[in-house]
Amino acid sequence: MTYSHRRQKVINLLAELDMDVLVFCQPENIRYLCGFRGSDGVLIVTSDQLVFMTDSRYTAQAYEEVSADCIAEYQIKTEGVITQLQTSVVTRIGFEAELAFGTVNEFQEKGDANWQWLHLKDELKSLRLHKSADEISCIADAARLNAIGFAEVEAMIKPGVRESEIALALEFSLRKLGAEEKAFDIIVASGLRGAMPHGIASDKVLREGELVTIDFGCRLSGYHSDETVTFALGKVSEELCTIYDTVLEAHDRALAAVAPGVALNELDRLARNHISSCGYGDYFGHGLGHGVGLEVHEAPVVSPRSKAVAEEGMVFTIEPGIYVPGVGGVRIEDMVLVTANGHQTLTKIPKTFRNILLKEEF
Ligand code: ZN
Ligand code: ZN
Repeated sequence: MTYSHRRQKVINLLAELDMDVLVFCQPENIRYLCGFRGSDGVLIVTSDQLVFMTDSRYTAQAYEEVSADCIAEYQIKTEGVITQLQTSVVTRIGFEAELAFGTVNEFQEKGDANWQWLHLKDELKSLRLHKSADEISCIADAARLNAIGFAEVEAMIKPGVRESEIALALEFSLRKLGAEEKAFDIIVASGLRGAMPHGIASDKVLREGELVTIDFGCRLSGYHSDETVTFALGKVSEELCTIYDTVLEAHDRALAAVAPGVALNELDRLARNHISSCGYGDYFGHGLGHGVGLEVHEAPVVSPRSKAVAEEGMVFTIEPGIYVPGVGGVRIEDMVLVTANGHQTLTKIPKTFRNILLKEEF
């Protein structure tokens, strides 16, 4: 049922774009469309046939997992794909924008002279945009693991501990709880390092009076979580408190506005305007958020350039930040699901300002 519905989406796309066939190489798209969980294979979809191909390392796995009309094995990927394409009459062949330039070249050089290779980018983004109930429950479970994993390591977050120790403990905790993998290299950025939006955990030792930003997530059943917490280690400067309050208010305003029909660039604008009105506009350099699913960063993008509107079933992050060189930084990130009437926040760790050493919230 699931796969036939997804297959129909591709067939509709073929008609819409006047293509004869679509060649998928991206593992997440392949998994979405036929269930294959391995990391290497090709899915070839025409209006009447869905063929999965892989090499001998994955054939047995494919027979267990894949829902397709045919499972075939190749020795050399490009040659296998070309041979398969030659079994039917095709001219217009769509492929993913992410496909390596070298592979595309090889397809073009070795394929039939009359074949047109069509590079698809935004056209394919819609494929995984609206999450089904099953997908939403996987994402929600991954988000729940974040909260449990974080609670397990919270007690060790204190002055004298290295950022890298916290990252390792958090990863261990998430894996122990059942996560397949961390979603990305865990970011632990304390003190002045907080001014680096992507400061992967370093050997720096945490000190009292600093803010600590931890951006982390995990993968569960193929689906990801992504969340950022920032908290104070003891009493922090007034400026850092102001920055925190500003980011939190920007986060809250954008989150509260999430509902079907709301333009994604409007969500970005709500957060960005607040940060600008507090004088920190120059220090919020990235977009407000991104979709999360089989990939930790996927459609839709939530930024000033977004053209889409929020629609039921979309899952994306709201993650404003302020990063002031020489002072520090704050980012607060939650994952939100667009529901029929509004939204539901999937991540569970409270984001109110917190001095983690005092064990009290205010
Ligand atoms: Zn994140
Ligand atoms: Zn994120």
